[in-house]
Amino acid sequence: MIIPDSVLEMLLKALPQVRPQIYFKSSLTALSHAMEDQVLAGNDHPLVIASFQRERFYRQEAHRYLRISDRTDQVYVLAAPETDFANRSEHYETIAFEPEDALSQEWHLIVVGEQYASCLICRERDLSAENQSIAPLHVDQARRFEGIWTFDRAVVLKSAEILLNRILKYRPELQGKITPMLARIVASSTSDINQVDPAPFADRLVTYLQAGQYKLAKAYRSIAEKERKERLVNSITAAVRRSLDPHEILNVAAEELGKVLGAGRCLIYRCKSNDASAILQHEYLLDSVPSLAGRTWTLHGNPLFEEVVQRQEAVFIEDTQSDARLAMIKDGDRTLQALTQEWDVRSWLMVPVLHQNQLLGMVELHYCGTTPHVLERDEVAMIEAIATQVGVALIQAESFANLEDLNQQLEALDRTRSNLIAITGHELRTPLSTIQVCLESLASEPDMSPDLRQVMLNSALADGERMRKLIQDFLTLSRLESGRVEWRMEPLPLWECVDLALSSLQARRMATALPQIVTQISTELPLVQVDGEWLVEVLTKLLDNACKFTDAGGRVTIRAKRSGDTMLEVMVADTGRGIEENRLETVFDRFYQEEGALRRTTGGTGLGLAICRQIITNWGGRIWAESSGKDRGSEFHFTIPIVPTGESKRSAQRKRTRSRD
Ligand code: ADP
Repeated sequence: MIIPDSVLEMLLKALPQVRPQIYFKSSLTALSHAMEDQVLAGNDHPLVIASFQRERFYRQEAHRYLRISDRTDQVYVLAAPETDFANRSEHYETIAFEPEDALSQEWHLIVVGEQYASCLICRERDLSAENQSIAPLHVDQARRFEGIWTFDRAVVLKSAEILLNRILKYRPELQGKITPMLARIVASSTSDINQVDPAPFADRLVTYLQAGQYKLAKAYRSIAEKERKERLVNSITAAVRRSLDPHEILNVAAEELGKVLGAGRCLIYRCKSNDASAILQHEYLLDSVPSLAGRTWTLHGNPLFEEVVQRQEAVFIEDTQSDARLAMIKDGDRTLQALTQEWDVRSWLMVPVLHQNQLLGMVELHYCGTTPHVLERDEVAMIEAIATQVGVALIQAESFANLEDLNQQLEALDRTRSNLIAITGHELRTPLSTIQVCLESLASEPDMSPDLRQVMLNSALADGERMRKLIQDFLTLSRLESGRVEWRMEPLPLWECVDLALSSLQARRMATALPQIVTQISTELPLVQVDGEWLVEVLTKLLDNACKFTDAGGRVTIRAKRSGDTMLEVMVADTGRGIEENRLETVFDRFYQEEGALRRTTGGTGLGLAICRQIITNWGGRIWAESSGKDRGSEFHFTIPIVPTGESKRSAQRKRTRSRD
């Protein structure tokens, strides 16, 4: 049965002098509780009628009605059922009305005792149309009701009469119980005894209002805290997303997360799900907490790590000292529990950094000290959200780096392509046409003198050799420029490489008279950390040039000295034709030759210095030319790394041991 009539409207119609007013839900809760307490505190046997809008509101108060029913047998509770609320006559009468009934919009509480009477008859106001700014928030405490609350006995009795008659419609079988009650009400409606002492009632009311206010203040505090955290999440997210440097991203995230969540230590490191260990690179620390930065973190066998990998979500151990798993697992000869004690980790949170279900890294929060830390669910959710952002930022940074790599490769390819065009356009065509002319003459002129024939053949052979060198240098430069060279860096004495370069030079230039070559390399110099084969290549090319551009009467000198703590400077100087000042940089360009492509007299390729620069800069060194001008000799200088002191001693030791063997 659905009754569409509002009890409030019926009451206002019956008593037109009564003026309804607006109540917030929190005020009605306080009033209702104070009224119920008055029943519980008194020794009256009053009539109590309570109408709740829904079963769930009644459930919160059910225990009070059980206690009220100990005081009086005239208790009626009404509600729209949601689970098992139904018409019953157990401790008191329960009356279920349809959810569409007008009662589902109303809140009533009526108490009619011998000494006093009070009632609260209200209807909820639909705020959706009225106040757009409050309604969409669905704030429970902002719900508003219109109606009356009074100690006026006449109003209370009228309300009781309307409600009892209504209960009779829902549950006619209660006639035997309700009719005598109705009769008593009608009979007493003329009396106006209301000997209520307002003081205890007011006290209770104030207590409930205060409690409501306290709850509100707590709610505001938690909202403010949430807002603060959300703002911080946004700022962390913005910070990590601004950067394309993975190192900076992880540092910022560790620092901010640690601070926001009040952790003693926050670690962020990169790892994959099957990694056995990881190096702790990014750490935020409170002053009093020992640092773990730089340590190797064992992941394999760590139950926390394995659980995170398996569940792909955060795992939290509130108290490491009472967690049985940590007591059983060992890292080396100590249990994880003992280690957490040493690292001062009382509560331990691990949050995975995931991207498309792939583990990219881990965020760890350590709470230190003597008491375990309690982490709220929403705090963990927040850290997970940040970890996701960190994952996205890392992927972005990686993609950017890949893109840059790819770009560099493309640029190198482009350079190779233009080199190829240049080499076929200018450099190869010249010797090729010489070869062609020579061979054609040899083929078409059988009467050619043997001397001329020999000249033709020598010319073709020399240009063939030039082409071979050109192609070889071109390929070497392309490999270097595209980063396809695998360096085998090792500690070496410089003098050994110089000796090898000199032997190679002498073998190459056996037929020609060389200038005097002076070597001034001290055996006391520190070892250099280089790829020996390539260093010999650089030295040979520089020595070859020096000899090429210096008369047999001149001199070539090789010297070396320390350059700062980490480098050695090598110099190849000659007394030859020198280089003009404005050409000192250009000589390192590809295919640069002072003579020009068509007037080559020296047999070079124009690629030698470009190759040397590629090699030296790859090792972190520098190469440059110096000259006082034309015919005043040239100096080529380059720097190469030396072996750090400790390492140098060890390798000298190894060498000595080897030679003893
Ligand atoms: P090349 O095979 O022609 O020697 P390089 O790249 O080695 O090619 O040298 C480029 C040019 O730099 C040379 O052709 C020459 O003009 C100039 N050059 C190199 N070394 C010297 C030097 N020691 N003295 C004078 N000029 C030099």
